[in-house]
Amino acid sequence: MVEISHYSKEVVNICRKIYNNQLVKQGEGNVSIRIPNQNAMIITPSENDYENLSEDNMIHMDFDGVVLQGKLKPSSEHIMHCYIYRKRPKVNCIIHTHSPNVSILSVLHNDLPVIFEEMAMLLGGSVKCSKFAQAGTEELPKVAIKAMKKQNTVILANHGLLVVGRTSEYCVKTAVIIEKMVNIFLNAKKIGDVKVISTDNQKKFIEIFDARYSTY
Ligand SMILES: [Zn+2]
Repeated sequence: MVEISHYSKEVVNICRKIYNNQLVKQGEGNVSIRIPNQNAMIITPSENDYENLSEDNMIHMDFDGVVLQGKLKPSSEHIMHCYIYRKRPKVNCIIHTHSPNVSILSVLHNDLPVIFEEMAMLLGGSVKCSKFAQAGTEELPKVAIKAMKKQNTVILANHGLLVVGRTSEYCVKTAVIIEKMVNIFLNAKKIGDVKVISTDNQKKFIEIFDARYSTY
């Protein structure tokens, strides 16, 4: 059996990657991974200290929100993480960031259209923006899942980005690519009309998404 500390280490690794890629500032966002066959996860603490990451600061919590082990207060978004793991058994990792460019899009309540083919493959189509819901409430995952539909990603209105996936590698890669794509999208919009890739041209890539990455 894999030790619980293995999963805490993995959460620390993910935190390091999203912090180094500037998708979160000190104290922002949250990350979790599912512990197989346990109805439980390892989640980051409230006000996560990215400058002093330690696996001992991570929290072992079940999907009812009960802390099984951990000395710090869990992220206030644990409600969202619990909700999604219960709703989507194929999800093994959840990353929530306040990525700078995605945050700009989130206050515009704008979707991110498919502007590169790789987006259709990785994201399964355009990334939708959810309705607004308060952080830390059960309303937030509800509006998030609703806007996400069959995909893995959603822009949380006036807030940031949420990515779920089968693996942590996918979630990190996807969070990084979305931030890059939103940057391209917002800059292109300043210059002129953004041309998006047609649904027809996305088809074969969305089939790959369904086979490889879908958690629906
Ligand atoms: Zn947040």
